[in-house]
Amino acid sequence: TPLLAIETSCDDTACAILDSHGTLLGESVLSQEDHAALGGVVPEIAARAHLKALPSLVDLTLERAGLALSDIALFAATTGPGLIGGLIVGSSYAKGLAMARGKPFMGINHIEAHILTPRLPASLRPEETAPNFPYLALLVSGGHCQCILVEGVGQYRRLGGTIDDSAGEAFDKVAKMLGLGWPGGPALEALAKEGNPRAYTLPRPLKGRPGCDFSFSGLKTAVSRYLEPFGREALPRHIAADLAASFQQAVADVMTDRVKQALATVPPVTALVVAGGVAANQTLRQRLENIAQEHHIAFLAPPLRFCTDNAAMIGWATLERLYQGEQPGDIALAPRPRWPLSERCAPSAHPSASI
Ligand code: ATP
Ligand code: FE
Repeated sequence: TPLLAIETSCDDTACAILDSHGTLLGESVLSQEDHAALGGVVPEIAARAHLKALPSLVDLTLERAGLALSDIALFAATTGPGLIGGLIVGSSYAKGLAMARGKPFMGINHIEAHILTPRLPASLRPEETAPNFPYLALLVSGGHCQCILVEGVGQYRRLGGTIDDSAGEAFDKVAKMLGLGWPGGPALEALAKEGNPRAYTLPRPLKGRPGCDFSFSGLKTAVSRYLEPFGREALPRHIAADLAASFQQAVADVMTDRVKQALATVPPVTALVVAGGVAANQTLRQRLENIAQEHHIAFLAPPLRFCTDNAAMIGWATLERLYQGEQPGDIALAPRPRWPLSERCAPSAHPSASI
């Protein structure tokens, strides 16, 4: 009894078909290249592109799975948080298919899906074992930067998050200042390899403070100050490289500190999990892996294709919900651009600290 999942919360249109064990039967993702030329995601353009892409993407995914629409037993889609246009397009499409075939529909929280990815079935992850609860999840992507204690499916405690930019935004904005393309993260990491991470003094916002909040805007401003003397002149490559390396180092220091703070305040966890596009960063990964080692816990980073936005994780979160005995959702439920994880989840032992 396979299920079909759709993800359209940002700029990637994705569709996946999973069987009841979570085996991935078919998958397709379409990244909207247009946004690169525009230097960021334009919500209206993204929504239209999702609408245009979905019908053929669903067909392609069915074809890859060797299935017909009539074989699908349940339809799922991301219903928040994210850009409202994309959420409406993706969830309406999935609901339409469900209604047409007389099958149930389930709306999935995008953040929940990200933080459950290390529990994907063995065939989809590099590690031999999936983490047991509780584990600590650090979600660092273009739209998010938060630290969550995962106590069980539906039991999440938000320990902190960014008070300004997300980690991905910080990378993208600094990359832009350095004259690199969009998305800036990968380009900045590549350039940083040529630079000296100690060349420039940059702040470590919130470092040493209790709690697990993040802040990146001060760091971004500090980088821009070093660029002022160059005005409109082209930035010499070695300076750009030193700045990139120094910035990356500062971000890694801040994240290391925040995660250590989080680990110090939560009950013992089995693993440290990192998800989101920024988790591609090798420097960051290495530092987080070191913390995990120091704490004698596992370090898990899902394969990159499941770190960034994808539909397999939406399908998997649907299954985790079903395994718990949850019934498919109300087809009339509207998508929510802001959807706190605390809603539709078991009462937390620490209600004041939940998301
Ligand atoms: P969402 O926040 O909903 O997951 P998104 O599409 O913006 O949506 P991702 O695809 O998870 O997020 O991540 C994209 C972000 O990751 C971009 O900001 C990009 O610059 C950043 N990124 C990708 N690779 C790297 C890297 N090697 N180093 C640092 N940042 C990176
Ligand atoms: Fe995402």
